[in-house]
Amino acid sequence: MAEALLKVAGLHAFYGESHILHGMDFEIRQGEVATLLGRNGAGKTTTLRAIMGIVGQRQGSVSFEGTETIGLTSNKIAKMGIAYCPEERGIFASLNVEENLLLPPVVKPGGMPVEEIFELFPNLKTRLYSQGTKLSGGEQQMLAIGRILRTGANLLLLDEPTEGLAPVIVQQIGAVIRKLKEKGLTILLVEQNFHFAATVADRHYIVEHGRVIDMIPNAEAEANLGKLHTYLGV
Ligand code: ATP
Repeated sequence: MAEALLKVAGLHAFYGESHILHGMDFEIRQGEVATLLGRNGAGKTTTLRAIMGIVGQRQGSVSFEGTETIGLTSNKIAKMGIAYCPEERGIFASLNVEENLLLPPVVKPGGMPVEEIFELFPNLKTRLYSQGTKLSGGEQQMLAIGRILRTGANLLLLDEPTEGLAPVIVQQIGAVIRKLKEKGLTILLVEQNFHFAATVADRHYIVEHGRVIDMIPNAEAEANLGKLHTYLGV
């Protein structure tokens, strides 16, 4: 079995006095797409933030390419090659598409060139001089993913990239995730939409009360639909 690119073991996270993650355990291999699935408030977003080093306090182990990241700053973690696209997308509303793409620091050599980002998202090229505020929800999401590709990260943490988007845009985002996987990138995706997750992922980790309670390979998802519906409360 290939070595894990990211290995999370016994991860606890706290916001002040609130203890949110209670010993998360999971791993992702190089080139895989994995999802964190679970109900609202289960701790999925907090897990991404804890991997990135932007929660109040973390305990346990998050090892990336064999290096322990607990104790490192989020800046150092980003430079190791992990990038985070938050649910609220994190683009600069007052800057245009081109400026948004040129602004992020290229934290590793080999950040994706802007032209390659336009090949993935042709819409963005036609909107080059449009401000962030003038973009549709789908275009904003594409720009947000484009920005993190500029960093040269090889592990992408995507928080609900399809939320609130029309089905045709959701399909486009799915196609891009599959292309990024073909390019060798590794992706950890937080999703509420299991049907979308099943079109892109290799495996699903089920999160409940700040722990991973099950892992379902995507190939076995169909056979486990009843179980998944119970976990997700749908
Ligand atoms: P959702 O899809 O609703 O975002 P989630 O599984 O991503 O769900 P989290 O956002 O990780 O869940 O939230 C887990 C718990 O942590 C929730 O009870 C939430 O209220 C709490 N929480 C989140 N952010 C903070 C914060 N900044 N301070 C205190 N508690 C927080």
